[in-house]
Amino acid sequence: MKIICIGRNYVDHAKELNNPIPKEPLFFLKPNSAILPKRNPFFIPNFSKNIHYEVELIIKICKLGKNIKESFAHTYYNEIGLGIDFTARDLQNQCKEKGHPWEIAKAFDQSAVVSNKFINKKNLNVNDINFSLKKNGELVQKGNSSAMLFNFDQIIAHVSQYMTLKIGDLIYTGTPAGVGPVIMGDELIGYLESKEAFKTKIK
Ligand code: ZN
Repeated sequence: MKIICIGRNYVDHAKELNNPIPKEPLFFLKPNSAILPKRNPFFIPNFSKNIHYEVELIIKICKLGKNIKESFAHTYYNEIGLGIDFTARDLQNQCKEKGHPWEIAKAFDQSAVVSNKFINKKNLNVNDINFSLKKNGELVQKGNSSAMLFNFDQIIAHVSQYMTLKIGDLIYTGTPAGVGPVIMGDELIGYLESKEAFKTKIK
């Protein structure tokens, strides 16, 4: 399986990092080796001095597809989860300055937190999903899928022009404002529709 991540999909987040608002979905990949095994802590890697959390809704692909039309895209995912796209912000800034690819900042081991549970989309209004992240008990990020620049169907239609989507692929759909650093000892808890979706300790 592969992990596709959408960048700058919430205007408030693009603005907080002084990034332009994209005209079409911007995406990058994480390998499956990036997944943080369930219930494992996240160990701060020694190559970064500024690891940021980014809480994101995740859609799970349930059907093989390529060049998927937006009007059919909803049939290609049936479950929604929550995760963190951990980012080495210092390395990402260096990559951006040099025009280099982002892998060292985005695709490293343990950089993808995936919630224990996914919710069937029949039980959600996909255009109105609330999610949030607490760090050490304090609310740091709060989002709603209605605020995405590109919705799930538009993302699937766009990405599948370039790469075949396979069963089990995960798409991280972008983070709202409020991203920030983690330090040793922090605890991150993600909430999907007010239910706890994951808990990650930072070590
Ligand atoms: Zn992200």
